[in-house]
Amino acid sequence: MSHSKATILIVEDEPSLIFTLRDTLENEGYQTLVAENGMDALKIVEETRPDLMILDVMLPGMSGFDVCRKIREKKLLFPIIILTARDQEIDKVTGLNIGADDYITKPFGVKELLARIQARLRRSDDYSGRKNDLIALGEMQLDLNEGIVRRPDGDQELTTREVEVLRFLAGFPNEPVTRKALLENVWRYEFSSNTSTRTVDVHISKLRTKIELRPEDPRYLVTMHGVGYMLKIS
Ligand code: CA
Repeated sequence: MSHSKATILIVEDEPSLIFTLRDTLENEGYQTLVAENGMDALKIVEETRPDLMILDVMLPGMSGFDVCRKIREKKLLFPIIILTARDQEIDKVTGLNIGADDYITKPFGVKELLARIQARLRRSDDYSGRKNDLIALGEMQLDLNEGIVRRPDGDQELTTREVEVLRFLAGFPNEPVTRKALLENVWRYEFSSNTSTRTVDVHISKLRTKIELRPEDPRYLVTMHGVGYMLKIS
């Protein structure tokens, strides 16, 4: 992903600051989206996955902290930079504790903001990029870039959806991931009925025939009863 094409969601309620942020970011080649409150921000995040979010703390209604918390609860990992008022030390600590990546104090300089944004986008590229593309599972190797499982008994091709499921699970190695999180991040719609969880289960079963040597007794893509699934990577 080229940084100049990254989409940045600005969550801010002060018109003059929205104007400045938009102007600055678009001049740098970023695409921008604007939400003036937390509910709108969450809606935009559902519909359009931004590459980064600039999030004001003091918003009408839901606070910036609540917005951040809700996004991280969904295991969405794009970088979030929180805007705080001067000297709100407590806010900074709270912000980092609830999963913000960085904070910047108002008033801030344009150069400082751009530097922080670039640093965060670079890091999130490292995180979601090639590093996770080759995963060893015992004698097998997952090549998520090529969409292939290399097995002792021959290669297996993965569908795009299967690659997305594995990529998401691999973002949380050895941690349980709920079906709901998979639905919201891979299928990208709200979990609402049993049909939806069933969709996840069907894909997991199919995936096991490809990435397990004995699908009936899975070692890598394991079921966490009452929770969801886990990708075990040693
Ligand atoms: Ca504000």
